[in-house]
Amino acid sequence: MSKSPKQAQRKKLTRRHFIRAAAAGAAALALPGCSRKEKPILSTLTGDFDPLRSYPYRTWEDFYRKIWTWDKVVRSTHSANCTGSCSWKVYVKNGVMVREEQASDYPRISKDLPDYNPRGCQKGGCFVEYVYSPQRLKYPLIRTGARGEGKWRRATWDEALTLIAEKLLDNVYNYGPDTNTFFSVIPAMSPVSFAGGARLAHHLGGVFLSFYDWYCDLPPGEPLTWGVQTEACECADWFNAKYIVLWGSNISQTRIPDAHFAFEARYNGAKIVAISPDFNSSCMHADLYWKINPGTDASLALGVAKILVDRNLIDVPYVKEQTDLPLLVVKSSGRFLRESDMKSGGKEDIFYFWDAKQQRVVAAPGSMGSAEKTIRITNGDPVLAGTFSVQLANGQKAEVTPAFELMRKTLEDYPLEKVAQTTGLPAQEIETFAREMGTRKPAMIIHGAGTNHWFHNDLANRAMILLVALTGNVGKNGGGFNHYVGQERVWPEHGFVQLAFPEGRKKQRFQNTTLWSYFHSASKDPHLHNGKPIEWYIQESVKNGWMPLWPAQPANGPKRKPRSLIVWRANYLNQAKGNEVIEHSLWKDLDLIVDINYRMDTTALYSDVVLPASSYYEKVDLNSTDCHSYMHTFGKALEPLFESKTDWDIFHALAKKISEVAQNKHLKPFRDEKMDWTRDFTRMENEWTGKGTIVTDEQAANFILANSKETQGMTYQNLQAHPKRFVATDEEIWTSDVEEGIAYTPFKHQLEKKKPWRTLTGRQQFYIDHPWFLEFGEQLPVYKEPLEEKYPLYWNTPHGRWSIHSTWRDHRAMLRLQRGMPIVYMHPDDARKRGLRDNDWVRIFNNIGECVCRLQLLPGEIVGRVTMYHGWEKYLGFQQGGWQSLTYIKIKPTQLIGKYGHVNFKLNYWGPTGNNRDVKVEVEKYRGKVALGTKA
Ligand code: SF4
Repeated sequence: MSKSPKQAQRKKLTRRHFIRAAAAGAAALALPGCSRKEKPILSTLTGDFDPLRSYPYRTWEDFYRKIWTWDKVVRSTHSANCTGSCSWKVYVKNGVMVREEQASDYPRISKDLPDYNPRGCQKGGCFVEYVYSPQRLKYPLIRTGARGEGKWRRATWDEALTLIAEKLLDNVYNYGPDTNTFFSVIPAMSPVSFAGGARLAHHLGGVFLSFYDWYCDLPPGEPLTWGVQTEACECADWFNAKYIVLWGSNISQTRIPDAHFAFEARYNGAKIVAISPDFNSSCMHADLYWKINPGTDASLALGVAKILVDRNLIDVPYVKEQTDLPLLVVKSSGRFLRESDMKSGGKEDIFYFWDAKQQRVVAAPGSMGSAEKTIRITNGDPVLAGTFSVQLANGQKAEVTPAFELMRKTLEDYPLEKVAQTTGLPAQEIETFAREMGTRKPAMIIHGAGTNHWFHNDLANRAMILLVALTGNVGKNGGGFNHYVGQERVWPEHGFVQLAFPEGRKKQRFQNTTLWSYFHSASKDPHLHNGKPIEWYIQESVKNGWMPLWPAQPANGPKRKPRSLIVWRANYLNQAKGNEVIEHSLWKDLDLIVDINYRMDTTALYSDVVLPASSYYEKVDLNSTDCHSYMHTFGKALEPLFESKTDWDIFHALAKKISEVAQNKHLKPFRDEKMDWTRDFTRMENEWTGKGTIVTDEQAANFILANSKETQGMTYQNLQAHPKRFVATDEEIWTSDVEEGIAYTPFKHQLEKKKPWRTLTGRQQFYIDHPWFLEFGEQLPVYKEPLEEKYPLYWNTPHGRWSIHSTWRDHRAMLRLQRGMPIVYMHPDDARKRGLRDNDWVRIFNNIGECVCRLQLLPGEIVGRVTMYHGWEKYLGFQQGGWQSLTYIKIKPTQLIGKYGHVNFKLNYWGPTGNNRDVKVEVEKYRGKVALGTKA
């Protein structure tokens, strides 16, 4: 309401009057002789200044108070693969979600640990606005223009589902069930929504694509060394560490709800070291910051390992019992000495050490072929050095040596001065690192995508794991190598797998997405590997049955191509390396692309049919993360808005429609020989609902909870009250128990109970004697330089603060916290050399593609690298291209191996990673015309 001049003048006068009066009062109190015993003069608080007076304009206060009233409050969370898994309350008023608030009700693990409350980030704190934003999908849409053109028509659910059902069935009968492809990610963040589509793929015989390896979130060193996908401590355990190494992990930006555990650990005596090329927002909290050259992390780890070994800073009893380093290797072949070498008819998976007391070989307990299910050594004392002669079954003699001795020789390649030169770190800092790593216990590495996204990520992982194994830190609270990239572990895994793939994993066609995307697109890796193109290794791997490749390819004749792709809870095209190559090849070959989504993202925009899904606040589901040890829920604050449905209900409706179409067309059951399954599609709905036993999403959630050891006693309803800590762990899946009052940390079963590690040798396995590893000289961890690229600047695309991947990238509030459009960060020296200034439009290019966006100068960036935080949608302000226009798919041959003990293809456990760091670009001023606003 505007004020009249008179009112304004009166207000001015009265304000001035008040200030003067107040000043006079204060002065009076300050006067000598005006003691505190004397009564203060309050006569000025009369008239307009009396706070209790009657006042005519009070109604706005009531209106303001009513903003903070609500009709109901519902617990929910977000599933964007942020790893947060934070519990929120959503407030609803008059049928509208008005705001959210951190629930702050995680039960505390122990009074000796900081708790998980409150938990959240700025993205989660504005999700209600996203729910009602213009990008929200409201109705089923069918494309009318070209893919990506943005031309759509509104369709009914019946029309859209009929179109999809007919095409899927058509593909099964005319091209084979393996031409239908399904892509969804990260079941932990909403397993019911994930399982809805997985069940459909399962009953249809379709191909289910991986995601954890494709996004390069999988640390391949973990399956290689430990035989697990990823095992990390929950974040509360960071507080127990006395030495924390933030290595390629910017927790202040990417683990916002949990970063405090690390920083608070300093009150508990911890020292924090940050290793990163750029001085990022986590480095500012560290005690020491080491500015390492990009892609040289394995060199640093091996240089430190050398110092640890040379100065005897290693835990020898731990190394002898818990690692494969005492196991003997035949020097001439480079292979482990096996029982099959020693006895005719002996096993390939029993190994030996040299016993110091008896001076002879002794079989090591606990390997895959061993009858002893313990790694406790009771039959000798393994040596770690020396060369010995053994008599083989074929009558010949062989020289053998412990893997430790070979490792020590390998480490000779990493003298201090050389490592200092490679990494760009002063030699004394490397020495400090080694000394502290060897003496401060427990010590942990918090590891992230910064190092994991490189081509040789497996080598870097293995080199870092070597540090924490040599120092005896793995399997102890506050210690270990803890990798956090993605919300990858489903705590109640047993129940989840039964729900998603009811007939078991063996009856499901699974596919590594990196391989699928490369093989079925025009992607071309220019690098040769030992003189051979990657295609040669792919062919060998598939021929040997190491990696699956769907659709199955004929021995002769034309290539079989995928025909359909259904994407939900994911943004395939945004995340695809070299996505323009994919768009112009694989994408064109697909007859049907369906996107199920609550917002119009890049994949939705380039689809044929878009089905509107409910948002995180309009669904029933579960949520867990490896960052904490609690289960909690999504709740329906409102029924799905507009015409949207939950993912579970969408796949139920699609299953029903498939039954209808199959019945109308009188389709005979389809014999799927490869899966040994006769599929009667007229009964699809019945199969999908488990013969009517799991119809609703709440029933599906309860099925997961009831069929998992971790969640016994939990129901969807009782979890709505507050998150609950897991009550146990399934020993087949996990490596430690959930203990009362103690933060979860992995591998206690191996360290305390002496259970074998899940590897070929039954130990933390640093020596991999697969022929391809021997061929590439990677049987032990070594440092290999990043792939050679001819451009001068590394292209760095890390996870950022203002989005979770592409989610929230287009959120008004998040855009206002930055420059509001895609930007590339560059060090001022690099900009000066190129005549560039802050906020210039620049063209970034290499031989793969180009993109045009604005430049921001950043002194914290390293010279020789530019950074664009990843996930920007193509339509958000690029003048050309996008962040993935410059990347491409590169497959590492050794990541294609299989049938080697614990190294076998398994979805999201082992398969080539879609690494994206070894890419270089050049940047120049953009001289083209700039069209402001978003573009498709
Ligand atoms: S987006 Fe993730 S980290 Fe942020 S509040 Fe939601 S669950 Fe937590």
